[in-house]
Amino acid sequence: MTVKMMTDDEFLANFRPALRDDGTLREIHPASDDYEAALRENRLWTLLDNDGNMIITPGLHWVNRMQYVMTEVPHTAETPDVLWHNDSDESWFINHYHCPSCGHKWQDEWSCQVDDDCPSCGARHISPHTSEESESRQIED
Ligand SMILES: [Zn+2]
Repeated sequence: MTVKMMTDDEFLANFRPALRDDGTLREIHPASDDYEAALRENRLWTLLDNDGNMIITPGLHWVNRMQYVMTEVPHTAETPDVLWHNDSDESWFINHYHCPSCGHKWQDEWSCQVDDDCPSCGARHISPHTSEESESRQIED
């Protein structure tokens, strides 16, 4: 799936989610009136935990589900999954690696420029030879 990074402020401004008094996302319980209305009007989203990242994805999902949230603004077929993060300064890097042992090349996306292990031969602690900042990230299903 394609995930667009958004800060909490951006998500609030774009979709106007229902919030609790403390400003966190209000959980929408299945079978409640809000849930039924939001589902009908494409305003229901699912909060997912993807390897520690919080992702808000349009519509109903069951795998890794944490809770449902609803927004004032409906999502459309073009609405991307949203990677919710609170730190607006954080960006993602696409790290490119080249294994010195076996010559295998791969890339990975991470929140910093980290060493990785070769997925082909298992060589440890290989530093990326280049890194670029990423606007959106691809996450394997
Ligand atoms: Zn290798």
